[in-house]
Amino acid sequence: MADLRYISTRGKAPVLGFEDVLLAGLARDGGLYVPERWPALGAGDLRMLRGLGYATLAAHLLRPFVGRAIPESDLASMAAEAYRGFAHPDVAPLVPLGPNEHLLELFHGPTFAFKDFALQLVGLMFDYMLTRRGERITILGATSGDTGSAAIAALAGRAAVDVFILHPKGRVSEIQRLQMTTVDAPNVHNVAIEGTFDDCQDLVKAAFNDLALRDALKLSAVNSINWARVAAQIVYYFWAALRLEAPLREIAFAVPTGNFGNVYAGYAARAMGLPISQLIVGSNRNDILTRFFEARAMEMRAVEPSLSPSMDIQVSSNFERLLFDLLGRDGAAVAAAMEAFRRTGRLPVGEEVWQKARALFSAARFGDEETLEWIRRIHAETGMVVDPHSAIGIAAGRAKRRDPAVPLVALATAHPAKFGDAVRRAIGAEPPLPPALAALKQRPEHCATLPNQTGALFAFLRERAGKPRPARSAA
Ligand SMILES: *Cc1c(COP(=O)(O)O)cnc(C)c1O
Repeated sequence: MADLRYISTRGKAPVLGFEDVLLAGLARDGGLYVPERWPALGAGDLRMLRGLGYATLAAHLLRPFVGRAIPESDLASMAAEAYRGFAHPDVAPLVPLGPNEHLLELFHGPTFAFKDFALQLVGLMFDYMLTRRGERITILGATSGDTGSAAIAALAGRAAVDVFILHPKGRVSEIQRLQMTTVDAPNVHNVAIEGTFDDCQDLVKAAFNDLALRDALKLSAVNSINWARVAAQIVYYFWAALRLEAPLREIAFAVPTGNFGNVYAGYAARAMGLPISQLIVGSNRNDILTRFFEARAMEMRAVEPSLSPSMDIQVSSNFERLLFDLLGRDGAAVAAAMEAFRRTGRLPVGEEVWQKARALFSAARFGDEETLEWIRRIHAETGMVVDPHSAIGIAAGRAKRRDPAVPLVALATAHPAKFGDAVRRAIGAEPPLPPALAALKQRPEHCATLPNQTGALFAFLRERAGKPRPARSAA
């Protein structure tokens, strides 16, 4: 069969194969790439996937998305390498939580958050493709926490990539900073910006908009709109469902959500044939998605900080991929809706389309006090300590679950030790630091500090890209 191709949600960008989609990220028309059709798995296929180890399952499920861009044996060894470093033998253990209720622990990767599932594999794919092409690129990103460390862990030491990650100086947690700055690799460059996270993002945008700089350094991004990241996240939905006897039974999932990348992967798994009855979105006070699924109002508001910072997002980029399907895969209609959203701050969605979305998706919002209350409650019920993001997922699942006979799987997206402050406020004690995190405090840090100025950043990028980081750099 011919390889799967990828089309833009706005209908005006070139149709691409997997390799170009991986390296391009955003489509040229401002849209996001999606597969032109969904690979279909029947009940027989699903039964054959039962009992496979995580990495083997990943290679099987990704096969149709990747096509001939990566030969089968190379894809299998990349998947094996990507998940070998996970600290749990199951990679993504499924543990009982309550009656017919399970927790899928997605925090056993090298940086203790679910982003490792995609970035560990996508980092290898980047390096593989670029090495084959004889090219070298510069990844530039801003982080408020989890994404930066996951990208650095995935790309450290890779020959074809330089990584520059900007974080706001003094405004990420100590653990999050150490996870980035203690990585000692010549191609990794941490920059603490004297400013806020928004300043960091503006600097990154300015660098991408400077076309001379962008071309000279071959700037690229590994943000969550990259199709390959979504594809890698589909795997753990199958993994969990197969353990709960799919295809014989339906499964519901509850997902703490920010950019809609994680829960959209669940939607994709369902489109491929996994019997998912319900996808439940958990939001914090930045609840644009909950307001949409509950009241049809997709309205932008200012982002407010919360105890679950990785969900402090108002525009959930990956929602556009769902919208594309809801609007009958009509790129012009998506482009018009997104343009209206940008202009007016309100996404126009008709009653019929909204009802279609609500047939599968439900959503619930929890503020900081409720989040702490749920961490307490889960601890009292089960003895387990969950992080604030995961607590919101569980709470949303309990609030919106339609059928208690259908098993509910709540996704735990971060290790509680990453958010020790919030956990201490909830239950009076911080969770013990895993040895790998505790050890970071003994390691030297590698980080430059720059003022919040494009000139200073651009000069730094030009000086460092393509060359190893100097052996000694200021902390
Ligand atoms: C990134 C992140 C989320 C949000 O995931 P999306 O794919 O952006 O919806 C939730 N929890 C944690 C811990 C994260 O790091």
